[in-house]
Amino acid sequence: MFSYRHAFHAGNHADVLKHTTLIAMLRHLLQKDTALTVFDTHAGAGLYRLDGEYAETSGEAANGFLKLLTFINTPPAPAKKPSAAAKSIAEGLAPVIKDYMDLVASFNNKGSHKVYPGSPFIIQRLLGERDKLKLFEIHPTDTKTLAANIAQLEAGRQVAVLREDGFEGIKKFLPPPARRALVLSDPSYEIKNDYARVVAMVADSLVRFATGTYAVWYPIIPRPEAHDVPRKLKTLATKSGKKWLNATLTVKSSKLTADEAGDVIRPGLPASGMFIINPPHTLKAALQLALPQLAEILGQDQHATSTVESGG
Ligand code: SAM
Repeated sequence: MFSYRHAFHAGNHADVLKHTTLIAMLRHLLQKDTALTVFDTHAGAGLYRLDGEYAETSGEAANGFLKLLTFINTPPAPAKKPSAAAKSIAEGLAPVIKDYMDLVASFNNKGSHKVYPGSPFIIQRLLGERDKLKLFEIHPTDTKTLAANIAQLEAGRQVAVLREDGFEGIKKFLPPPARRALVLSDPSYEIKNDYARVVAMVADSLVRFATGTYAVWYPIIPRPEAHDVPRKLKTLATKSGKKWLNATLTVKSSKLTADEAGDVIRPGLPASGMFIINPPHTLKAALQLALPQLAEILGQDQHATSTVESGG
């Protein structure tokens, strides 16, 4: 039924955007004294190997996390006329990018970068003892792998792996006991209905628990239902009187090209976004510094860019 496996995509530019934003949000939310419950409605397998068969077949991390790593370890010679982003990088990498790189490095032996943590492990690494993590995953193989990976943490009741539909499963947990929550929703959008379901899930969750922070990753591709996700979430936030933030990272053009034989070459995922309702107040400034730097480093053509828009 489901053919999407995140192992092919782990560490790609979409993961860089999603995980950098996730860490920046958690750093702020975890400063408070009250316990936080984090929900990951589409958790994946939790840990991935960048030197494994899946990652090597797709090579996606090479244009994402690994490209960033190479840039940091061996910065290119400065251009004669550097862009504003290149100048900003020369002055120092944004703290949230450093934080992200350090966190991924902490899953690896010094100097090696074989393991890439998915959102469950990134979140768990940052939580305090009083905080809770609920992970939903529906793919039979990924659920098993996730459960086995999480078991090794010996985190006890702090982390729960639920083999359930995340869109539905979250309902019974809202509002959470200490009335503080971050919901990450990162569907694979393999099923067209996911676009509508993620918006419906946020709408329903806001009724159950209006003060939660809701973060939705979405692909930016030439499909009307993909464009609808940020548009509908913005309308939802505005109607509910909530603050929102929409951050996007584009690494290349979305145009189809042709090879020498005239066969169409699909560009692969050119861009993605994170839409956040009730964002931490520190997030906008952090991403406004980080995202132009990420677009400069990960950009593959002159269409590379980033945006950070907010309202409410
Ligand atoms: N959030 C993960 C990360 O950042 O490391 C990656 C998640 S991946 C993009 C999406 C995952 O959602 C896949 O592993 C897929 O099997 C799972 N999935 C698909 N539909 C689901 C549903 N309705 N409920 C829960 N999981 C689902």
